Amino acid sequence: MEQNKDINQFDIPLAKRTYLKNSNSILFKKLLIFSPFLLLIFSMATLRLIKNLDAGPLRNLILQVDANYDQRVLGHLPYDEINKEKLVLIEPNIEVHIDMRDSLLKMREEAKKDGIYLVFLSGYRSINLQKDIFYTLKSRRNQEAAERARVSAPPGYSEHSTGFAIDIGDATQRETDFETQFENTQAFKWLIKNAAKFHFKLSFHKDNKYIDYEPWHWRYEGSIDALKIFERSNRKL
Ligand SMILES: [Zn+2]
Repeated sequence: MEQNKDINQFDIPLAKRTYLKNSNSILFKKLLIFSPFLLLIFSMATLRLIKNLDAGPLRNLILQVDANYDQRVLGHLPYDEINKEKLVLIEPNIEVHIDMRDSLLKMREEAKKDGIYLVFLSGYRSINLQKDIFYTLKSRRNQEAAERARVSAPPGYSEHSTGFAIDIGDATQRETDFETQFENTQAFKWLIKNAAKFHFKLSFHKDNKYIDYEPWHWRYEGSIDALKIFERSNRKL
């Protein structure tokens, strides 16, 4: 009896060792097979978590990295100046990219058929003119750069330099030109309903963190060139 007990004591650890070895090996194989799935699930969960974060250091860090990556300055993306040969005069003082002229004029004609009178306020602006608009008014109004940038792009960072941007007013309510109140006009309501038919899109919405809402400012996205230019602006994190 005494001897049997000794044998048992000797056998049990051996059995345990064998069992444990097999168990670990099976577990390892299972992990190896499922590891890609586990990795995928973990990645998806992490991405979902990041996307769902409304605020917080991690999201701010991602936004900062993104801002550096797309070279924004005070919330504005850089834009090259249009080749002058592609500019056309559509009325006194209003030049636009030749690719958007027909669509823009057609939009005004269609609006008129609905009793809406669109007026074009500003089209192409050179980087030099933008420089003047940004710095001269900044100085005159005693504004800091970030404050000024909320209502005007720094030179080299305006959609107007591309020839694909147009500021629009309501011919029957000129007091709302370049004013947020433009959103209450019939012209704006018509644009919201119809502009996409002519490939125009509102650039600066109410949810923009750096730039004030501009209901009068529309950009053209009806050509590959225009889409390429505004690709980064349309990309959202
Ligand atoms: Zn504008």
